[in-house]
Amino acid sequence: MAANTPLVGDKETNNWFKACIGLNVTKEGLTNFLCAELQKVHTVVGRSCGNCPIENLIQCPTNPYCNKRTRNYCPFHKSQKPQPCPICDNVKHNIISHHRYGGPSWRNTRAEKWALNYWEIGKCYLPPDGYSSISSVQESDFNGVISIMLNCLHFHTCLSPLCLSPPPPDKQCPLEKFFLRFVRLAEMCDTHPTAR
Ligand SMILES: [Zn+2]
Ligand SMILES: [Zn+2]
Repeated sequence: MAANTPLVGDKETNNWFKACIGLNVTKEGLTNFLCAELQKVHTVVGRSCGNCPIENLIQCPTNPYCNKRTRNYCPFHKSQKPQPCPICDNVKHNIISHHRYGGPSWRNTRAEKWALNYWEIGKCYLPPDGYSSISSVQESDFNGVISIMLNCLHFHTCLSPLCLSPPPPDKQCPLEKFFLRFVRLAEMCDTHPTAR
């Protein structure tokens, strides 16, 4: 759909529609790049054993996961207790060291899939909640794609520092202005470090 096609009569609402279309187009454009780079991250962080769920790899208590209301009962660890696994602990450590704030979003990821699925590694760099059921980059939204690019330090080697800290390199380019504006918005919404 052409971005300048009037959708409804109200100008402000029409602008929001255009912004949504713009977000989707930008996300589509970044999808292949994100997939290719996440595969490199997957190689760098190493192979997990493929058996440990994330609950095994997180000590109890760990904020904000183990919100214990009653002693001896942890809702996060109710089905799995923490267990040391040198192979997965090494992958976990590498994921943490690639996180801009050192606080990956463990609730989103399925650690038993780390061995075979690069997206489960990428999900550690998403916002803290709300993405656990998203099974691919294609299913993710713009905010998810941008969050990974901002939170995973690997992408800081792929992108110009000017993209990561505005002002835009080319003030005349409407696409760059649009993109950077949303990068800043995503940063403002998601810069709080999550607990380790
Ligand atoms: Zn716990
Ligand atoms: Zn393991």
